[in-house]
Amino acid sequence: MSTFVSRTQCVGNRVCAAAHIPQDAALMVEAGRATPCRFTICLAEICHAEPPEAPSRAPRRMNTVFDTLPTTVFETMSRLARVHDAINLGQGFPDDPGPADLREHGARALRDGWNQYPPMMGLPALREAVAAHYALHQGLALDPETEVMVTSGATEALAGALLALIEPGDEVVLFAPMYDAYLPLVRRAGGVPRIVSLRPPAFRLDEAALAEAFGDRTRVVVLNNPLNPSATLFGHDDLDLLARYCRRFDVTALCDEVWEHVVFDGAGHRPLMALPGMRERTVKVGSAGKIFSLTGWKVGFVMADARLMRGLAKAHQFLTFTTPPNLQEAVAFGLGKPLPWFEAMRAGYARSRDRLAGGLRDLGFEVLPAGATWFLNIDVANLGYADDAAFCEALVTRHGVAAIPVSAFYPDGSVRTLVRLCFAKADATLDAALDRMSGFRSGRPGRSA
Ligand code: PMP
Ligand code: GLN
Repeated sequence: MSTFVSRTQCVGNRVCAAAHIPQDAALMVEAGRATPCRFTICLAEICHAEPPEAPSRAPRRMNTVFDTLPTTVFETMSRLARVHDAINLGQGFPDDPGPADLREHGARALRDGWNQYPPMMGLPALREAVAAHYALHQGLALDPETEVMVTSGATEALAGALLALIEPGDEVVLFAPMYDAYLPLVRRAGGVPRIVSLRPPAFRLDEAALAEAFGDRTRVVVLNNPLNPSATLFGHDDLDLLARYCRRFDVTALCDEVWEHVVFDGAGHRPLMALPGMRERTVKVGSAGKIFSLTGWKVGFVMADARLMRGLAKAHQFLTFTTPPNLQEAVAFGLGKPLPWFEAMRAGYARSRDRLAGGLRDLGFEVLPAGATWFLNIDVANLGYADDAAFCEALVTRHGVAAIPVSAFYPDGSVRTLVRLCFAKADATLDAALDRMSGFRSGRPGRSA
């Protein structure tokens, strides 16, 4: 069976909303499943179009935040990578299987250990390991009993924190580019977003913008540091400034610090929680997925003072309640690894960054500085692309490399020519991607042409 679905029936996606689709473009859907389409990213991947509903059917009643939400750009680009047999430098995950000793620990715990519900707050061994880890690495004094909670990834920690912290109508300050989960979670919690856009290439805070965004109704500010997708770290002056605004307006800072260990060139991560007056007004979020390059494990942790933690735990108890105990045991082991392990991990990723950045520069791409995370950005404006989504579409369909358009992280789409590439890959993968991308600059026809 073939069905044609017009664009107006497309649920839409930021990538799609880039509007490079002719209004009347049609999508062929076979057997109810979208097939790759030659027109656009959106048409190929985002419209899980089902045959149009019978008009007589009553409209579904769903929450509008999620009902109108597109599929995440990460899922979309990874699916496109599969469809086009592309090298996936889009969604952030390493192609290395992760530390063998952690996997061994987890496997042993799964085979021989306790596989029933662990305590709601997390295994005591992991909570103690988290507290010891942050004492050693960041000088934080956390009580493992009352100030640490284990979650199913940072995503659950963020969702729970926003649900627990926000009352409907509260204003929440967010910085763009922002991780794509923030805005819908804030909205679903009833928060009113106040978005401050940070400009490339430095992505620094600016006092005038903070003065405009913060006010008496501000309850929460969400800070992602190091910042994904910009691959930048906020400086001491940025953090001091933000802490001053949090204190002045009595605001709680929700700090997504999942990239805290993935920082390069001798830089160190400075947690906002450690700044004067911030200890009792900060919720800090970490993720073993990033620390140990095991993104599928989804083991996260939340740190906050005991008063805040009581509320956070109430949200967690009805979101996931617990996280697989075997993975918790393995992460507890991993957090105790000696300092040189973390240095070697960083050095390995810095080398990969340099390989990809150097290769791209040699090909004539404009590469932005990348001081943290697994990502670097290129500016495609000088390639004649005013639209990062169009560039990503051409890159994946014609050259077989998947990337992420950074405009997906700007709700107002104000930055439109940056493209994020993940370098957490083997040398051979990066070299193969560079080879494919050489077609862009040389004018050589794409892989499939
Ligand atoms: N926050 C940021 C900034 C991220 O980049 C990610 C994923 N890479 C997450 C949260 C989600 O982390 P997790 O997979 O632990 O849920
Ligand atoms: N955080 C990952 C990235 O930035 C993606 C996570 C996801 O796909 N949900 O690529």
